[in-house]
Amino acid sequence: MKGGPGFRRVPAKTDLKNAMALTLDLTKPESRAQLRPQMAVDKKSLIGLSRDAMAQALAALGVPERQTRMRVRQLWHWLYVRGVSDFAQMFNISKELRATLDAHFTIARPEIVEEQISQDGTRKWLMRFPPRGAGRPVDVETVYIPEEGRGTLCISSQVGCTLTCTFCHTGTQKLVRNLTPGEILEQLLVARDRLGDFPDADTPDGAIVPAEGRKITNIVMMGMGEPLYNFDNVKEALLIASDGDGLSLSKRRITLSTSGVVPEIYRTGEEIGVMLAISLHAVRDELRDVLVPINKKYPLKELLDACRAYPSLSNARRITFEYVMLKGVNDSLDDARALVRLLRGIPAKINLIPFNPWPGSDYECSDWEQIEEFADLVNKAGYASPIRTPRGRDILAACGQLKSASERMKKTDRLKLEAMMIAGHGE
Ligand code: SF4
Repeated sequence: MKGGPGFRRVPAKTDLKNAMALTLDLTKPESRAQLRPQMAVDKKSLIGLSRDAMAQALAALGVPERQTRMRVRQLWHWLYVRGVSDFAQMFNISKELRATLDAHFTIARPEIVEEQISQDGTRKWLMRFPPRGAGRPVDVETVYIPEEGRGTLCISSQVGCTLTCTFCHTGTQKLVRNLTPGEILEQLLVARDRLGDFPDADTPDGAIVPAEGRKITNIVMMGMGEPLYNFDNVKEALLIASDGDGLSLSKRRITLSTSGVVPEIYRTGEEIGVMLAISLHAVRDELRDVLVPINKKYPLKELLDACRAYPSLSNARRITFEYVMLKGVNDSLDDARALVRLLRGIPAKINLIPFNPWPGSDYECSDWEQIEEFADLVNKAGYASPIRTPRGRDILAACGQLKSASERMKKTDRLKLEAMMIAGHGE
C-alpha cells in the first residue's frame, strides 16, 4: 500500500508486526522538511572521526591540549551513546565551545528521502548524502530486518559497485563513489533514530537504552557495494561501531560480507576482527567466474585458503557462506556434494538464499523442493544450512535487490516485478 501523494509520518515505534507495506512519499517539500536535517555541505562531519582525529580537530580549534581527551570523551558519548544530532543538546559542553564546533563541523544526519515498511516489518530507507567536492549528492539504501529476539541492520559501503555479479541488482549500477566512515555510521545512527533506539533527547544523562533492549542488535556490511574495495573507511566505521564507550556493538554481532577480495580478507581478520561472510554462490571456478566475476582474479582455492587462515575460527565463530539458489544453474545435488567437499575443515554455516527476482535479471529461483533437498544434504554433512526467508520483497529490500534511487526503477518495471511476485515467480 502506497502512502498516497502526501506524507504519512511513521512513528519511530510503529508496531512492525502489524505494519502494512508502506511507502512514505517525501517528495512534497513541506513534508520532506520534517525528516530533513540541514545539509551542511561545506562543513566536515565529526561522525566517523577516530578519537585521535577528533582530538586533532579540537586542538586545531584552539581547545587546550590538557582538555582534548575529556572533550573527545564527551563528544563521543553525545554522538554515539545519546545519538544527538545538534551541538545545542550537548549541555555539559560550554556554549562557547558548542558555537565554535557548530561553526566548523556538522553532526547532522543525511536526508531521508524515502522510508518504506514491508508487510513483514522490514524497513528500507533511502538516504541522501551531501556532495563531496565537486560531486553530486548520493543516494544510499539501508535495510532493517526485525526477527524474533534480534534485529539486523544491513549497511551499504559504496554507492553502486564495480563488480558485476550477474544475479545482483546492485551490480547493474556502476560505482559512483565510496562512502566515508561517517556516511557508513550515519546509516546506523539514522536507523536507531527512526526505531527509537536512542534515549529521548530530554531524558537525564545516563538514561540510555540498554543493549538487550535495543532493536538493532546486529549489523551486516551486506548492502550496496563491496566493503573490501573500501577497506580503510569500512575499517574505521566498524571500529567505531564496536567501541565499548559508544555504539558498543560486539564484533561477534558485526558481519562483513565480501565477494572474495582475498588480500583484504587477511587484513579484515588482523585489523578489524569482525565475523566474515563470503558470497560464494558456486563451487566450480567456471561457474563462479560468471556469477561472481572477481573469481577470475581470486579463484576458489585462494579464497578458501584465506578463509581457512581467518583468525579465531571455531564452532562458535564460523564463517557464513552465502549461496543464492538459481534454478538449473547451481542447485543440483552434485553441487551440494561439491560444496560440502569444498568447505571441509572450515567452521562454516551455509545460508541458502532463494533468488530474489528483479526486472531484467536472467535467473529464476530454484524450486522449493530442490532447495530443501539441497539444504538437507548439506545439513546431513554437518553444516547448518538455513534457508533464508525472503524479507522485504514487496519493497525491494531483499538480498541482491538494492539499487539506489539515482537509478530508480521505471514504473513499468516495478509493475512487472509485482506481477511476477503475485504469480509466485521466484518462490
Ligand atoms: S553481490 Fe555485492 S559485490 Fe557483487 S555486484 Fe552485488 S553489491 Fe557488488
